[in-house]
Amino acid sequence: MSRAAITLPGIIEALDNEPVKAQLRAIGERVRDIVAAGIDMARSEGTLASLLDAHAVAVKVLEAESAGYFRHVSGGEALKAALACAPGCTFCCYLYVEVTPLEAVALWHALRDDRYAAQRQAIAAAAPRVVGLGPEPRRAARLPCPLLANGQCTAYETRPFACRGLYSTSAQACEAVLATPLGLPLPAIRSPAVPRALAAVLGVGINAALGDAGLQNRTLELVAALDTLERTPAAAARWFKGEAISPQRRESP
Ligand code: SF4
Repeated sequence: MSRAAITLPGIIEALDNEPVKAQLRAIGERVRDIVAAGIDMARSEGTLASLLDAHAVAVKVLEAESAGYFRHVSGGEALKAALACAPGCTFCCYLYVEVTPLEAVALWHALRDDRYAAQRQAIAAAAPRVVGLGPEPRRAARLPCPLLANGQCTAYETRPFACRGLYSTSAQACEAVLATPLGLPLPAIRSPAVPRALAAVLGVGINAALGDAGLQNRTLELVAALDTLERTPAAAARWFKGEAISPQRRESP
């Protein structure tokens, strides 16, 4: 049965470059196929393992395509050198992060390892203050991501695509965004559009595959999703059977 092509997000539609848009669409469709194959395999095996493997392959696709962009585009190396993003710079880790349900499940699964006990506690502690805040109130609240510790992302290998796609040429501009009071216009962040679009199209491809398979494919806020999965360990398996992961506001533990 033929399927509808993925719908490109606004950030990609806004690009004034049809060949790049076509390439991004092809990457999104490739990731859709990877995740679809993972879903089929996971269903036949009766475990989530193959789907988690598909997520890991999607991460590698994003890494390879992002690296390839900076390597091959005209002026790419200079563009990369102009980025302000560096270890210890964490202004973007105080923002609202959206994830696909698959990313949430993959990250939750990785955090179940004993060495992530502190991160699980940090998520539980942060959830009452964070869950329910929209993007702007969350920014203005200046609450750090619970996975941030000592200036580092403690889940760097499994961090969301949204985090992977955030680039800036000015840490001062990022700091200014964080410092702007709620309701005032935000300073502009200069960032290369294609790497950000790549991260966005990965999410679109993943969610398309989830939707094709009848699984929830609405993006979720990161902390809310992780907190829900941690408090209801059967939620991941139930999601794979077609139920929704439904974060709720909650009181302090
Ligand atoms: S997941 Fe990691 S990179 Fe993303 S906001 Fe949290 S600490 Fe920052």
